[in-house]
Amino acid sequence: MQTDLRLARSEAGPRDPLTGLASRGALERSIDGHLAHGTRLAVLLLDLDRFKEVNDTLGHLAGDALLRELAARLERSLDPTDTSARFGGDEFAVVLPGVRDSEEAYERATTIRRELARPVRLGDVRVEIEASIGMAIAPDDGDETAALLHRADVAMYEAKRARRGVARYDVAHDPRSDAHLAFASALHEALTSGAIVVHYQPIARFDGTVVRVEALARWHHAQLGMIEPSRFILGAEQSGLIGRLTDYVLDQALHDARRWRAHGHARVGVAVNVAAANLVDGRFPARVAALLAARRLPAAKVTLELREASVPTLDRARVVLDDLAGLGVRLSVDDFGRAPSSLTMLPGLRAHEVKLDRAVVQGLLNHSGGSRRLAAAIIAASHALGLTVVAKGVEAAPVWDGLADLQCDAAQGFHLCRPLPADDLLQWLRRRAM
Ligand code: C2E
Ligand code: CA
Repeated sequence: MQTDLRLARSEAGPRDPLTGLASRGALERSIDGHLAHGTRLAVLLLDLDRFKEVNDTLGHLAGDALLRELAARLERSLDPTDTSARFGGDEFAVVLPGVRDSEEAYERATTIRRELARPVRLGDVRVEIEASIGMAIAPDDGDETAALLHRADVAMYEAKRARRGVARYDVAHDPRSDAHLAFASALHEALTSGAIVVHYQPIARFDGTVVRVEALARWHHAQLGMIEPSRFILGAEQSGLIGRLTDYVLDQALHDARRWRAHGHARVGVAVNVAAANLVDGRFPARVAALLAARRLPAAKVTLELREASVPTLDRARVVLDDLAGLGVRLSVDDFGRAPSSLTMLPGLRAHEVKLDRAVVQGLLNHSGGSRRLAAAIIAASHALGLTVVAKGVEAAPVWDGLADLQCDAAQGFHLCRPLPADDLLQWLRRRAM
């Protein structure tokens, strides 16, 4: 067996001119060879996080030097029987033949990742780059080369999306799996048949004035009843339907906002959650503009909420963020304070507001005082940057009062009101105005 493994590595063939690693074709042949011998193996796909930023800010020569250094480290962290390849750009792949189980594969992947994360000196600059690694293990996750590479790729995207560092293939995240295809067609059907409904949760200042309501999607499923968004937003993202969902919710929310304005609640704005895909869709701002015009709503009454973790990179989102800011809609950074959150990102995000993470808010009653200090610091820093702060997940009166003491601007949570269907919200607003 040992001879066979060495044979596969020496077959590595054409090399990438920049890094000297094997080419994609050579790596595929190496996997073919191991599979033909029935060898258990792990395929790892590595993608560097934020490589483009280095390339853009320090130049291509520095980018090339970084890739060469990381390739050399990758090679050094492998056993003689392993094969590494560059797939182009900042994507690398590794085949680890003979891994005993997924634990060993995780360990090997984590070691490689740690090795790559050590700082690299590029001229006068010290750069730290992290990699996201997806892995697929043969024969458990597939016994054909193309399937294993696709599955390692699915896992790599999941590692990146969830910021997990290393992730193994999971069919639940695979847009090509049967379950996914069935889910996607059911969601598509729901979006066309009106089975997605929008509920609204009020956000109020501490003097009781309702400033806005947040639109929250629900799926009214024929067999399963009302499905919470936590069960379908991820699937909508992975099946490419999230853009349709945002458009749908935005359209419905602006339509309903028009209604409560007609009933004398013109000061109450509306917030809609947007996803990563919206921020790299160059046509998204034009659709928002068209909906605002169709519903005759002032842009300043509409807030778009985005999670910092979902911003693809500021570079890629820049055009859309600038266009949205140009329309005059408000931008809110959701779940702020859930690590890793960065105050320095806020101006670049064109944000008007941060929403204090529920865990920080709910920790306000803890005796240790850590959450209170964190909340106070975020509120003070946000105010210094000209941003307002909304606390979310306020369930109890003492938390509400504590936030008012900390000079927080507004709050949302079960203490004020649960999310309500549009008609019920209108009645709730009416009762409060009395
Ligand atoms: P989110 O943006 O954090 O929305 C607030 C969630 O917290 C809502 O859950 C709401 O019901 C819940 N919540 C409100 N007050 C409290 C409270 O006092 N305590 C606790 N424990 N929870 C509270 P929901 O409606 O299940 O939504 C979950 C997530 O799904 C939302 O989190 C949002 O990220 C996402 N989502 C909802 N609708 C949409 C949508 O139309 N598009 C996108 N992209 N995401 C959506
Ligand atoms: Ca939100």
